[in-house]
Amino acid sequence: MSKPSGNVTPHKHCPVCGISISASKDYCSPEHEQMDENAQKRMRNFRNLTLLLLVVTMVVLVGISLLLRH
Ligand SMILES: [Zn+2]
Repeated sequence: MSKPSGNVTPHKHCPVCGISISASKDYCSPEHEQMDENAQKRMRNFRNLTLLLLVVTMVVLVGISLLLRH
């Protein structure tokens, strides 16, 4: 029960469309590289916003609990 392996040429997949590309490249085309860059930038902004919202919520919660304790 053994599968023949090791005969696969090293390759990657474009993170945008998933087609096979050569291992030396990260994307199939400059357009897709730009697309992924934009998506990651948007994701980073979203994460920052989520983090900010979390901090604000925590500050508000702490403030309310302090007010209630008073
Ligand atoms: Zn692509």
